[in-house]
Amino acid sequence: MPIRQLPPEVAGKIAAGEVVERPASVVKELVENSIDAHATDIRVEIRAGGTRLMRVTDNGRGIPRDQVPLAFARHATSKLADVEDLDHITSLGFRGEALASIAAVSQVSLLTRPHEQTMGQRIQVHGGQITKQEGRGCPAGTVAAVEHLFQNVPARLKFLRKSQTEAGHIHRVVSHYALAYPEIRFSLTTDGRQTFQSTGNGKLYDVLIAVYGLQVAEQLLAIEGTDNDSASSSPEPASSALNLSVSGYTSSPTLHRANRRYITLFVNRRWIQDRSLTYAVAQAYHTLLQVGRHPVAVILLELPPAEIDVNVHPTKREIKFRDGRLVFNAVQRAVRRTLLDSASVPSFTGQPRTWSS
Ligand code: ADP
Ligand code: MG
Repeated sequence: MPIRQLPPEVAGKIAAGEVVERPASVVKELVENSIDAHATDIRVEIRAGGTRLMRVTDNGRGIPRDQVPLAFARHATSKLADVEDLDHITSLGFRGEALASIAAVSQVSLLTRPHEQTMGQRIQVHGGQITKQEGRGCPAGTVAAVEHLFQNVPARLKFLRKSQTEAGHIHRVVSHYALAYPEIRFSLTTDGRQTFQSTGNGKLYDVLIAVYGLQVAEQLLAIEGTDNDSASSSPEPASSALNLSVSGYTSSPTLHRANRRYITLFVNRRWIQDRSLTYAVAQAYHTLLQVGRHPVAVILLELPPAEIDVNVHPTKREIKFRDGRLVFNAVQRAVRRTLLDSASVPSFTGQPRTWSS
């Protein structure tokens, strides 16, 4: 076959494959958009594990009338203007391809109204094509509804798991964003039944109770603030130079799990996966937990956006640190210090110690 430029529909579907792996990827992108729109209330509704319907309703900024169709164009974003912006991304989205990708493999309808406009807009996009746009009265904010996911991509449809499994992945996405944003009220309704809710009162501990239950939450220890104070007693280069803060909660050694799935990491409030940092947390429990047992932890890292590259993974689940070793050490030290501080054994109350990897 000669080399040919692929028709836009085919190229669109291929690109969508990177972003939209399963229903939970759609919910993730829609929830990120709601967060980026400064919503304080985000409601997620799903049917049949998201295959029949995923609807995200927010009270965020909305999209101005004339920009509604543009939101579905590839590489169309309001979050990035030039190449320099890539070095200090503070929003969750920035590539402008989520809505385009989702719309390429499903039927989307979006109802949106910015606070300052009296009339909202409703737009329908089927398989990437805008089929309808009309004015509609609606509350300020945005409702994005996605139906018939992958109906036009039989190969993907085959890989979908049972509704219950897909719903579980969605539950994980919603509850994790609730952990990262305790000031936002989240709810998840699955087949008409509310399966998760956070209050949005700003207290991480309350979200921990909502996600893991009171019994687990009671065995979690607060990780105190920044790593800066240990810089002077540490032979490591001061991580304060990096302006890194580590906070969150980590389990007392009485609480453990059979795998590391319960170690959750957020970097600048983005939920990420990072084997090395997960290991840093687990390692801090060295000698405190039996081999094969792992802690429960929610670790929140804050560092200047210029210190990380969030543009290295199609779904942004992995990021790159400019100095991964410093971050590793800071996480391990913060967790270890929390464990030592909480221990009633007198010899454990001394100076923070440095734990090498
Ligand atoms: P990105 O988030 O990377 O910018 P998306 O395709 O997810 O790309 O969204 C495109 C644009 O549509 C966003 O930049 C934003 O301006 C607008 N948008 C999408 N969802 C919402 C929402 N829930 N509220 C307000 N604006 C939204
Ligand atoms: Mg987005």
